[in-house]
Amino acid sequence: MLKCREVNALSNDFLEGYLPFRLRLRVIWHLLFCGKCRLMLRQLRLLLVTLRQRSTSRPDAVQVEHWFEHMKSHHENKKS
Ligand SMILES: [Zn+2]
Repeated sequence: MLKCREVNALSNDFLEGYLPFRLRLRVIWHLLFCGKCRLMLRQLRLLLVTLRQRSTSRPDAVQVEHWFEHMKSHHENKKS
């Protein structure tokens, strides 16, 4: 089974639908057993949806990446 760290690394591609079918299934399998990763992905998805709904003053890619990294590090800190 994938580790939380691996799911974190794949989270953007998972939400964007870029993962190959088998890898996507492995992420879903992990999510069935890991509430922390489910929560992390839910937060990321909410962030993506919110960003797409905004029609003005869209943040640039650097800002979005900064937010992702902040959320991922927050998730990692919760596990320890
Ligand atoms: Zn996990």
